[in-house]
Amino acid sequence: MKHTNFDVIVVGGGHAGCDAAHASARVGARTALITLKLDGIGVMSCNPAIGGLGKGHLVREIDALDGVMGRVADKAGIQFRLLNRRKGPAVQGPRAQADRAIYRREMLSEMQTCPGLEVLVGEIVDFLMDGNRVAGVRLADGAEIRANSVVLTTGTFLRGIIHIGDQHYSGGRMGDSAANRLGDRLDDFGLPLGRLKTGTPPRLDGRTIDWKTLDLQPGDEDPVFFSFLSSGLAVRQVSCGVTHTNEKTHEIIRENLSRSAMYGGHIDGVGPRYCPSIEDKVVRFADKSSHQVFLEPEGLDDHTIYPNGISTSLPAEVQEAYVRSIRGLEDVQITQMGYAIEYDYVDPRALDSRLSLRDVPGLFLAGQINGTTGYEEAAAQGLVAGLNAAHHSLGRDAVTFSRSDSYIGVMVDDLTTRGVSEPYRMFTSRAEYRLSLRADNADQRLTPKGIELGLVGKRRAEVFSVKLEALEAGRTLLKSRSVSPKTLNEGGIKVGEDGKMRNLFEVLAFPNVSIEDLGTVEPDLIKVPQDIQTQLGREALYATYIARQAVDAQSLRKDEDRVIPDEFAYEGLDGLSNELKSKLVRVRPANLAQAGRIEGMTPAALALILARLNRER
Ligand code: FAD
Repeated sequence: MKHTNFDVIVVGGGHAGCDAAHASARVGARTALITLKLDGIGVMSCNPAIGGLGKGHLVREIDALDGVMGRVADKAGIQFRLLNRRKGPAVQGPRAQADRAIYRREMLSEMQTCPGLEVLVGEIVDFLMDGNRVAGVRLADGAEIRANSVVLTTGTFLRGIIHIGDQHYSGGRMGDSAANRLGDRLDDFGLPLGRLKTGTPPRLDGRTIDWKTLDLQPGDEDPVFFSFLSSGLAVRQVSCGVTHTNEKTHEIIRENLSRSAMYGGHIDGVGPRYCPSIEDKVVRFADKSSHQVFLEPEGLDDHTIYPNGISTSLPAEVQEAYVRSIRGLEDVQITQMGYAIEYDYVDPRALDSRLSLRDVPGLFLAGQINGTTGYEEAAAQGLVAGLNAAHHSLGRDAVTFSRSDSYIGVMVDDLTTRGVSEPYRMFTSRAEYRLSLRADNADQRLTPKGIELGLVGKRRAEVFSVKLEALEAGRTLLKSRSVSPKTLNEGGIKVGEDGKMRNLFEVLAFPNVSIEDLGTVEPDLIKVPQDIQTQLGREALYATYIARQAVDAQSLRKDEDRVIPDEFAYEGLDGLSNELKSKLVRVRPANLAQAGRIEGMTPAALALILARLNRER
């Protein structure tokens, strides 16, 4: 170990840890990333894919702030698909299936080449304290490393228990030990801890699958990348197989339900409703005789196949029987059994909007430990916690994200004000302002903030400034030319004959009108680069809706500006119900907008808080 003193220590090299450590180092904090194994950095515990609906937005936002997940996923991508392609851009989600080995290799390289970031191997078992403040960590071998801020990103490892049927043993995920000593140590802080669970399917040997009986699903012909800096495919692309469960599969599962760890009463934790096990699906959707299963290759030089859609915690022999009842898998060899894992999480209402524990200064939490599920949710929290841990250590101001500027802001606000009752995952429906929070404009929303914070590197800042200039030039050109419907119709652009003069930006908002079409009216538009044309088309399409949203966002921002001090005395506020008082005391909202989103909050109660704030000004 070269140093024993850092500004920030990040514990855990999973998805939250990597983006936390990188963000911390990018803003100039001397950062240590300490994890159990070097080859555990960037491991995808479950499906070999990044992105999807809502999740793809998060990856784009991480990338807009120069985080690592997006560009690593682009380098490892072996199949790219834009989900919801036929729907509007606001709900489209970029997704890529990734080669696990390339993903790990590229992530490790990002960590090892990042200036100011040192990667260390070890198990953290204890914290060093300075009064009630965290001042560093102690490793299992007794070594002590000091730092003003510590970010804990231990995923499913805290007192993790793996279940297969009625068998269970301690583990952080398959092949890794659980972090039991650290779990016990966290008890001493008196944090509100709970138990959650999640599961993963068996892995299959692709050489034993009868591919010729299956449909194949290729990726998109025009891949949409995560990173605003990526311009082409890095590796060969592959197709997935598609098959289905059937009545026989369901019968085997139904007959053995009592032997499933999830159903047999062996697990206390709550599981993810949105990512159900096959046992769950058979019970909850009893009227369905078949469920789709995607057979996803785990890598280019790997025969392992991930059967997406059949995660399970049934005993090994039952897994074998039901998997072999599926078309194409009659003779398949299982290389690793599916399993469920239950683990400790910390109620995220104990955190503030920097993802720092209110009662333990200097300790930040990010990822699955906060009750979320998914790589993308973890990485986005990592970025927030790592950035703020660095700012805390370097004596700089807190950096927060708002529901009106990002999905990152939506997630942090949801977690810290509402808490979780099951593993939390992102959906576009969670965002009130989803017409403006699109994956395609994440850079316009967040890169300026990243540049101001010093979080964004020179290259991205340059690329972004060129893009902004091109967008501005295109916008000006469109808005500078006004035309009548008659002129448009003569140019072959069909709009209603209402006689109204419109500028070309407004005309672009009509369905099926493209910049290329408008080239007949304003020939200079043809020179606008293709990607800028597409972007301007989206802007025009959403402009009127977004203008309306902007008014709402403005009033939310005004509310958000009204900070509620941490020591605000809710108890002494006459007219507030006892239930609301106790909720407010527990959540300690940072501002009025957060208070407004607490379950059960009324306008009258908000008015009382506001009146007290005004009086105490
Ligand atoms: P992890 O990726 O788990 O990383 C934790 C890191 O902390 C590891 O590198 C570990 O080595 C390190 N660490 C732990 N303890 C210590 C210690 N004491 N000292 C030093 N280092 C330590 N997500 C989905 O979206 N859908 C799913 O269906 C799904 N299924 C899953 C099934 C299983 C069985 C598992 C294990 C996970 C599943 N996930 C799923 C969750 C997904 O893997 C996580 O959400 C994601 O990996 C969380 O990232 P993280 O960074 O919080 O933690």
